[in-house]
Amino acid sequence: MFDDSLHEACGIFGVYNNPQASHLTYLGLYALQHRGQESCGIAVSNEGTVNVYKGMGLVGQVFKRQQILENLKGPHAIGHNRYSTSGTSTLENAQPVLINCRAGQIAGAHNGNLINTNALRKRMVDDGSIFMSTTDTEVIMHLIARSKRDGVDSMILDALSGVMGAYSILFLTENALYGARDPRGIRPLLLGKQGDSWFLSSETCAFDLAGAETIREVQPGEMVKIDASGVTSFTIPVFESVVRPSHCVFEFIYFSRPDSFVFGKNVDRVRRKLGRKLAQEHPVPGADIVIGVPDSATTAALGFSEESGVEFDIGLIRNHYVGRTFIHPTQDDRDFSVRIKFNTVKGVLKGKKVVVVDDSIVRGTTMKKIIRLIKTAEPAELHLRISSPPITCPCFYGIDMPTKNDLVASKHSIEEIRNYLEVDSLGYLSIEGMLSVMPIPEDFCTACFTGDYPVQLCH
Ligand code: SF4
Repeated sequence: MFDDSLHEACGIFGVYNNPQASHLTYLGLYALQHRGQESCGIAVSNEGTVNVYKGMGLVGQVFKRQQILENLKGPHAIGHNRYSTSGTSTLENAQPVLINCRAGQIAGAHNGNLINTNALRKRMVDDGSIFMSTTDTEVIMHLIARSKRDGVDSMILDALSGVMGAYSILFLTENALYGARDPRGIRPLLLGKQGDSWFLSSETCAFDLAGAETIREVQPGEMVKIDASGVTSFTIPVFESVVRPSHCVFEFIYFSRPDSFVFGKNVDRVRRKLGRKLAQEHPVPGADIVIGVPDSATTAALGFSEESGVEFDIGLIRNHYVGRTFIHPTQDDRDFSVRIKFNTVKGVLKGKKVVVVDDSIVRGTTMKKIIRLIKTAEPAELHLRISSPPITCPCFYGIDMPTKNDLVASKHSIEEIRNYLEVDSLGYLSIEGMLSVMPIPEDFCTACFTGDYPVQLCH
């Protein structure tokens, strides 16, 4: 892995009733590229046939010729950007997944992570099912195909009633687009519209690129069906009682783009408030400048600056063109992976008392390299501020994290981490401080900080 920062599971985008459906989906996936960079794909529905094109790499690499999109004809489409959390990074695991079943052709694209797929898959394999991939999505598609209900709506609802965990998922049939969200609404999913065309997306930034306006969120536990009769809403039947939503708080801390609205709020506004709260909890008296680790911590650093009155500056520059497959030189350079990605602005940092804001620390190894890099610019002092609480437990709902043992804050005190990172001071935002800036604090998952998992794990 290139670094040890957190990675989102996936981005999904769908279009109903637009002659440019595949082009708009391509644009939507471009806007959602930050949610997954390993593989991507688009499925289109055209006159009773669903076709899929997918490949490994970024959207611009997979759809590198106009002709590929031209061949994906049809007024309805779904697309998917993948970062693997369940299953390995191979073409077989790229999405959308297309099946041909009793109800016809259905393509599926999933963002999230299910917690009971091992048990479901084992049962189906024991029954004789054959799997082509190791993804959760294929398990859901099998459940749809095996449903004894009649009609696609009922078959999908029946399948979703049997899965547990996090899912925001799109399905495309020959004449309808579906979007469904797990009962806790862990991952976002929004409904948009432009003229007579409907859209579904992980984030609103993709609507902006497609020229669509946001209509509303797909509600936790809701499935919407979009077809010639408009939008129909269904409640997903669940066997467990779900009292409150558990939105992923990391969508605001790190994953979603600042220009997006998710969970009813603009990400930029919430992220700035996290930075403001951090400045209140852990001020740095006498600091000269505050810098963010680009890009995700820039907004929180701006919030820190606004609250503290310490000038915001650009002290680190990020190279956006370094792919995950970058070939490292064989020389013995322990910090090369960070130096290829970041560089310092030496005139900004030299001799200054610097506050560095980042959004999270996972293993701590990348943070240590970033600190070493910043020190080459000779600041007088370095004070590290983190706009989330210490991560002590892994995520099982679609975020790629190491095991508990590898999370630096699960085994070490804040003072030990400060010592390891060799900074003058270290301050994490408190759980209370983080929740105080969330739209409805009780409606957020905090399991990676507390171990209090909203959906218990199945084995
Ligand atoms: S455990 Fe953490 S990363 Fe995972 S869904 Fe909950 S808040 Fe988000």
